[in-house]
Amino acid sequence: MTSCLPNFIYQWIDFVARDYSFVTKFQVGVTSQGRPIYGLSIANGVGTAQKKVIYVDALIHCREWITTATTIWTFKEMLTKSEYSSMLDDYDWYFIPMINIDGYVHTWNGNRLWRKTLSATATSSCTGVDGNRNWDVNWGGDGASPRPCDLTYHGPFPHSEPEVRHLSYFIMENKDQIQVLLSVHSYSQLLLYPYNYDLITIADNDVQLHNISKAVCEAMYAVHQKTYTYGRGAETIYVASGVTMDWAHEAANIPISYTYELRDTGEYGFLLPADQIIPNGEEFLAGLVVLVQEAQNPVASGYRPNEA
Ligand SMILES: [Zn+2]
Repeated sequence: MTSCLPNFIYQWIDFVARDYSFVTKFQVGVTSQGRPIYGLSIANGVGTAQKKVIYVDALIHCREWITTATTIWTFKEMLTKSEYSSMLDDYDWYFIPMINIDGYVHTWNGNRLWRKTLSATATSSCTGVDGNRNWDVNWGGDGASPRPCDLTYHGPFPHSEPEVRHLSYFIMENKDQIQVLLSVHSYSQLLLYPYNYDLITIADNDVQLHNISKAVCEAMYAVHQKTYTYGRGAETIYVASGVTMDWAHEAANIPISYTYELRDTGEYGFLLPADQIIPNGEEFLAGLVVLVQEAQNPVASGYRPNEA
């Protein structure tokens, strides 16, 4: 049985692409069970011909329902309210709201806390791979498990998961335009920047990433007084190898690369009630407004914060 919820999101994608001439639906690839992964390209034609792009994805971990709900609400606001039109003038956008669709169906069919993909594992009776340990960046390093039954199983080889492989192709094809990549997770109320795979590797634009995340988290706090903590991933949450954000920064050279962890801090966890979708979206959107402004600031050159 296929639950209806993924179909509602497919329908929303179709409605938006139909209703806005400057929004185009595209297919990133398919899941291991053959479900199409769609995205929306938002390019309103205002400004320069080769605008930079902000890329947003959600639900690589399928139990993190709030990530799809909140990002969809946010893009709806951006498309329908004139006060946000400058966000569409300043950047083009790619929005991929639902990556791990097989797993998402699984969470609607009785296994609400499923996290991984649903690919078969040749050497084990356990199913699935942690899509956020499968990227080809320090793959198999600390904070990723070689054991197929573990929640953080990194898979048999890098990009073994079609969801990750197809996303990697898409990002690589567009890497010269993508200035900002935001991979949205829940929960813990964090904004993380590279690197996640160890405690010693520091992004060459560490100060820029720090300053942007500080401003974003302050803007998020101002809406409903929810504290979001920011910092390098490995220091702020834990060491984890093979994550989207690190791969985007190191392999695809996308300068501004973040992992969001949305609400809450554990009271409801992955089972966040639906009445928090819009408040969480209001925070996310307020932060995004600031991020769009901050990302356009020139980066101080010749300063490498990891040097003594
Ligand atoms: Zn996650």
